[in-house]
Amino acid sequence: MVRTTETSTEKAAERSADCLFCKIVAGEISADMVAESESAVAFKDINPKAPVHVLVVPRKHHADVSALAGASPEALADVVALADQVASDLADGQYRLICNVGPKAGQTVFHAHAHVLAGTQLTGF
Ligand code: IMP
Repeated sequence: MVRTTETSTEKAAERSADCLFCKIVAGEISADMVAESESAVAFKDINPKAPVHVLVVPRKHHADVSALAGASPEALADVVALADQVASDLADGQYRLICNVGPKAGQTVFHAHAHVLAGTQLTGF
């Protein structure tokens, strides 16, 4: 069963100490912001892999997209919607969306995020 209501556990996880992306969301560390919504923010990746490389991040802390999907499908949908908006605003609306879940997948920042890659012909996988 999909849970759609916010629990007290979720509220407690609003931010995590020493989380880089929580600090960016809070404005404590600067980032090149490009868009925002009620539940997510979008900023340029510091080490871009494409002409447009933006990270879309839920405002509330979840360790990865799997945890986000379990806790708040609406917030995950908002991340995807903001990614789609960014790709239209900064490129031609064609993009690759990547979510790394876990170190084996290459995740290095353990706050859920989606990479939006666009602005060129993307090859490989
Ligand atoms: P992951 O490997 O999927 O966890 O992606 C983390 C991403 O965060 C990497 O692409 C990094 O380049 C990016 N990153 C790390 N620190 C910063 C920062 O301070 N600002 C913007 N992007 C960052």
